[in-house]
Amino acid sequence: MPELADEPGLVHGFSTVAIGSVGLKHATDRSAVLASRQAFLRVMGLDGQALTAVGAVHGAGVARVDEPVDSVDDVDALVTDQPGVVLFATYADCYPIVLWDPVAHVAGLVHAGWRGTQAGVARRAVGFMRDEFGCSYILAGIGPGICGRCYEVGEEVAVQFDARFVNPGQRGKWLLDLAAANAAQLEEAGAKAVYETAMCTKESYLFPSHRRHPDGTRFGAIVALR
Ligand SMILES: [Zn+2]
Repeated sequence: MPELADEPGLVHGFSTVAIGSVGLKHATDRSAVLASRQAFLRVMGLDGQALTAVGAVHGAGVARVDEPVDSVDDVDALVTDQPGVVLFATYADCYPIVLWDPVAHVAGLVHAGWRGTQAGVARRAVGFMRDEFGCSYILAGIGPGICGRCYEVGEEVAVQFDARFVNPGQRGKWLLDLAAANAAQLEEAGAKAVYETAMCTKESYLFPSHRRHPDGTRFGAIVALR
């Protein structure tokens, strides 16, 4: 995201469909996915480094990473203060959230779909950075995800969110603004600034969208210290 691009200590980025799917879970061709992941690392200037993947179980768990591991399975957010640890997660409508404290040199990556957002994963990640690393100057960037005009949910999901983030849709459905819900959480948790790319995965063909083409294709987010 442009607002975080000039941070000298932070490397972050989102892959597009041009690089290929980076999600293994639904992959029919694992070697192609692994090649796409390598290409993503290369583009980010992290050639040859290992990815540490967010397991992404649609919860609010946060974990600290001190050295590279393949994945941390039971969480939706990872935080590190170690150069050489490359945080990684995959998405197709859920939101990547980049967290960065330029004073403490601590970075985090969040995976936030509706369940994780409802469970408060972004709020918990900010709290974790404060409690675990003493962070007091956290900048947040909300990456591409499905927007509040496109994300149709049923009544049973809509009622779990504050009315500020829900609008009436068609045929008795509701429209949920996950970006706004996460932005509010990050601000309430004390983030110094919250930036939004405001790119919708369902509307932009740069990114795969589960709602538009549920074919298992995933884009990736990388967060690392320089
Ligand atoms: Zn949209």
